[in-house]
Amino acid sequence: MAEGSPAQRFKCTNCSADMEFDPASGGLKCPYCGTAEAVVEQPAKAVSENPIDQVDPARFGKLSDKALQVECSTCGSIVEFEPPEVAGFCPFCAAKIVVQAKSADPLISPDALLPFSVPKDNASGQLRQWLASRWFAPSDLNKLAQPDGLSGMYLPFWTFDAEALTSYSGERGEYYFETEYILVRDANGRESRQARQVRHTRWYAASGRVEDSFDDILIPATKSVDRGKLDALDPWDLPSLRPYEPAYLAGFKAQRYQAELPEAFESAKGRMEAAIRQTVLRAIGGDEQRIHSMTPQYSNITFKHLLLPVWLGVYRYQGKVYQVLVNARTGEVQGERPYSAGKIALAVIAAIILLIVIFAISR
Ligand SMILES: [Zn+2]
Ligand SMILES: [Zn+2]
Repeated sequence: MAEGSPAQRFKCTNCSADMEFDPASGGLKCPYCGTAEAVVEQPAKAVSENPIDQVDPARFGKLSDKALQVECSTCGSIVEFEPPEVAGFCPFCAAKIVVQAKSADPLISPDALLPFSVPKDNASGQLRQWLASRWFAPSDLNKLAQPDGLSGMYLPFWTFDAEALTSYSGERGEYYFETEYILVRDANGRESRQARQVRHTRWYAASGRVEDSFDDILIPATKSVDRGKLDALDPWDLPSLRPYEPAYLAGFKAQRYQAELPEAFESAKGRMEAAIRQTVLRAIGGDEQRIHSMTPQYSNITFKHLLLPVWLGVYRYQGKVYQVLVNARTGEVQGERPYSAGKIALAVIAAIILLIVIFAISR
């Protein structure tokens, strides 16, 4: 191995074991002798934006020289990791991985990541609290809160920056009031005319152009976790992004992106159009607005590939897969849980017995 290659850098200088990234200290730590080392970031690799339409071939690479990958034949996720990590079970669907790990295929290299800052013990603690507040969860769901119940996973995301110039046409509605008279009958049956103000809207044609500028529109590139739960893990402290270094991967796994750039950019467009709509409504002004057409033209589109850290627990119960995610920056837990039919039945029986006892006493 060449000097300074990742393979050499992560060997413990004291006992030559493989060092792991330590969320508590934010550096590398030897799991055997405790020797600590800082993550050395390459000065040239500042977090950079990339044009989307011409992905530079130099942007493709492996997560690290030694990175391996396995593909789950059940859910199709591709997970990458460095030895001595192994992939015995799929961290997303809990299926046994039967294929041999192979050297990782090149991918658009991550530009940046948020390092793990919530240690596994803390994540397990958060998960235990979360489980404790879930009634009727099957007892062996508690396995997830055991040390080996969670796997540290970097999930893939894209972020986009873009400028949008949007031509629009629509109508501006302005309110005006007219006095109308109505007949009112009082208690004695006498009728009288009363004036009241009635609101009407006059519509004027409106068209023009608006400019919007977007920064860091975050789009998940994973399809292996529930989108709603993933969105609920927001916010991510993106200002704390670090330039990607393989050292951050030591001891963790990373999922290979499943949404390619063009597909992800379509999702980003959806988000941007919602914002552009608001800009157009403001530009039209007046009291009410109608938009007939809106044509955004995007320019200066750049992307970044990000990895964001989660502790992932996966659980099979009666043939269904349940996932629990812990945001490894904030400790926030999002997940689904099965209901134990046995526990519910026991609770119902207990309630019936209680009612019978109350009934017997009160007689
Ligand atoms: Zn050591
Ligand atoms: Zn799987």
